[in-house]
Amino acid sequence: DPIIDIHSLSCTYRDRGTVLKDLDLSIREGEFVLLTGPSGAGKSTLLRCINGLFQHDGIQGTASGEVRICGMDPADTRVCDLARLVGTVFQDPDHQLFSSDVESEIAFGLEQLGVDPAKMRGRIEEAAGVVGIEHLIQREVNALSWGERQRVAIASVIAMHPKILLLDEPTSGIDQSGAGHLVSVLKRLNEEIGLTIVVAEHRYEHFSRVCSRLVSIQDGTVCYDGLPVRPDLQV
Ligand code: ADP
Ligand code: ADP
Repeated sequence: DPIIDIHSLSCTYRDRGTVLKDLDLSIREGEFVLLTGPSGAGKSTLLRCINGLFQHDGIQGTASGEVRICGMDPADTRVCDLARLVGTVFQDPDHQLFSSDVESEIAFGLEQLGVDPAKMRGRIEEAAGVVGIEHLIQREVNALSWGERQRVAIASVIAMHPKILLLDEPTSGIDQSGAGHLVSVLKRLNEEIGLTIVVAEHRYEHFSRVCSRLVSIQDGTVCYDGLPVRPDLQV
């Protein structure tokens, strides 16, 4: 069964009209999907329907259609149960960083999940290691660069061992080498742990070589779904 299964999803913001229109998308466990399309196409809205924010976060909008994440409807699933399944890295890391130092930031989500305190240290070190921030563990979050704060955000999310990782425009605040590092971290998580990854980006270049599938949306519907293609071959 698909890990993400979406049928005829339509989303409307109260003051905005229909943003997603009758959208179908099915993603299997272990896929690495690059979700692309111009700014305003509805990529973030789609991610919010997958992580349950659209259904739970008091967004002034309505959704119709069917969304199933690991067989569950996010609308009927408690936010803390969804967090075990779906981890989200937002475009601006500061929207998800709340602690003073890196270690407590990564620990925070684990505490919410009720992870055994004896296993805490190992989980923190593992997640920090994956994104290469072991040396920053004791540092103040506020004193880190954007790219470092983004890695802290990713570590905090993957420490929770979600089945699905969503990233919204993750390369927007980092330079070319930062983007290269991010791409290789995600590639490794996908290949070694089999983590299902969906990256929303309006550009192709960073992820087109590592993703297994390219989904393009335009005006709220899927206009391309298949193997990653070069931008100049893209219809
Ligand atoms: P993308 O991520 O592809 O840039 P979004 O999903 O962010 O697209 O936005 C799709 C459309 O929905 C845009 O026109 C945007 O202005 C609108 N939109 C997004 N979020 C909201 C919101 N919370 N309230 C009203 N309109 C929104
Ligand atoms: P468990 O429920 O025992 O943690 P998982 O299926 O979550 O089992 O993990 C299996 C193995 O993969 C473990 O060794 C775990 O440390 C590693 N692992 C799982 N998810 C992640 C992740 N997001 N980042 C790094 N390692 C992970």
